[in-house]
Amino acid sequence: MTTKYIFVTGGVVSSVGKGVSVASIGRILKSRGISVAVMKLDPYLNVDPGTMSPYQHGEVFVTKDGGETDLDLGHYERFIDIEVTRSSNLTAGQVYLSLITKERRGDFLGGTIQAVSHVTNEIKGRIRDLAEESQADVVVVEVGGTVGDIEGQPFLEAIRQMRNEVGRENVFYVHLTLLPYISATGELKTKPTQHSVKELRSFGIQPDAILCRSDYPVSDAIREKVSLFCDVPKDAVIPLLTVDTIYKVPLILEDWGLGDLLVRALELNAGRRDMRDWSAMVEMMGSLKGKLPIALVGKYVELQDSYISVKEALKHAGLYHGQEIDVQWIHAEEVEEKGPDSLLSSACGIVVPGGFGSRGVDGMIKTARYARENRIPYLGLCLGLQVMVVEYARNVLNLKGAGSCEIDPECEDPVVDIMPEQRSVTDKGGTMRLGAYPCRLVEGTLAHRAYGTLEVYERHRHRFELNNAYRESLGNAGLRASGLSPDGRLVEISEVEGHPYMLGVQFHPEFLSRPNRAHPLVREFIGAAMETLREGDQPSLPLGQEEVPVRHQASADGEE
Ligand code: GLN
Repeated sequence: MTTKYIFVTGGVVSSVGKGVSVASIGRILKSRGISVAVMKLDPYLNVDPGTMSPYQHGEVFVTKDGGETDLDLGHYERFIDIEVTRSSNLTAGQVYLSLITKERRGDFLGGTIQAVSHVTNEIKGRIRDLAEESQADVVVVEVGGTVGDIEGQPFLEAIRQMRNEVGRENVFYVHLTLLPYISATGELKTKPTQHSVKELRSFGIQPDAILCRSDYPVSDAIREKVSLFCDVPKDAVIPLLTVDTIYKVPLILEDWGLGDLLVRALELNAGRRDMRDWSAMVEMMGSLKGKLPIALVGKYVELQDSYISVKEALKHAGLYHGQEIDVQWIHAEEVEEKGPDSLLSSACGIVVPGGFGSRGVDGMIKTARYARENRIPYLGLCLGLQVMVVEYARNVLNLKGAGSCEIDPECEDPVVDIMPEQRSVTDKGGTMRLGAYPCRLVEGTLAHRAYGTLEVYERHRHRFELNNAYRESLGNAGLRASGLSPDGRLVEISEVEGHPYMLGVQFHPEFLSRPNRAHPLVREFIGAAMETLREGDQPSLPLGQEEVPVRHQASADGEE
């Protein structure tokens, strides 16, 4: 079957949910038995987001093959339940790097390298490579940024050309816009959408469907207006109301008929749609009990997108337990200044996520100490493991000069040191230990019980590791290595013996979590947090014949 393409562009403003919409389109197609590949085109000039500050870009999503990619790929994986590769994220930086490398090699001898057709050919080539590589029925391509951005132009030109190349019947353009609400008159405005479609048309692209993001219900009259001015059939003007959980979006798009529309327009060979599991899951999300406070102590907490996979993984684990999670965003530097007692006193569980550089690290070390001493469940992700090791060495092993070489290369006891193969690395881009590596679990440990298996693959992004010179003394003091690389050289998981749940991992389990398949380590962490009572939380003694509520107990043997 010929590959079909759906191109999704954005208009008016950014951050109105293009990534989630693309992920949702993927979900609704997959639910009809159609295979999908997904791709994000990022018009910025960095080769990948790995060298950008999370403040600029949010989380760096790591693919199994070690790609450092846009966080939207996380949405794709979670919604469609697929594993993408680095081929699913193309930046302008990659396009130019590839072209200039070819030019220097002499591939274009005698020629002038131009935006059209060299740049556009490179972009189209990469989209078609993904189609080839994945053999998917449909490739859904998200164009980053909004229509009108200067750097987005070659990408729009490339997706315009694609239609002619692969056949009009094989391409569908979706445009996502925002309908702003004017409170004074109480109305939604379509003008920015009209302008944005006009802009899109100036590139030769006429949308086949328009998704209208809105904070207020979109009336029929508004849909008609968009239909009239933008020349899109009314049933292809789809309101996308702001919702309490992003996981509702596939259901909303389905309800408005987007799935049928795509199947019809692209003449897809589709089975009957089946969103029952997804609906049931979303329904469960609406009936969760209580709010379990989980503190996330990091250095980029002002921008929650920096930890989006962690946040989602916590929610997925909460869903498993029927428990709503209240993530408390706590700045590591604030813990440094004010101490952990006041900031962490209500948290039933603490997560210290990944990070780079020294800012906030002292606050994280204090956080780890607080969790250990107060027996509060703790999950350390990469840097979160490393600070846990430093804290343990300082305060249990009594090595007062213990530290991480990332923070202090001269520290007396480098319990966290640079990996030997990283010593000679000088380039910063794409050179960390990246992607999925195997990890062997030590029988009888918390990690082993959680996973219920002896070998797992987890995704990594780091340069530092637990220094093996201290592995034995830390182990003897109760910080046990419970997961190792198959050659035994690298400690992948450490856990504190005798603590309800204090575990750190050198990898990023958050990338593997799915809404309907919580990650075992996060699931058990939330299970332990649910058992944690903070001061003032003690339930009153049951009186008379009243039934004592039984808490849903996390299974410890790894069964879901
Ligand atoms: N900065 C640490 C390292 O490179 C931790 C990395 C991370 O948290 N992803 O090892």
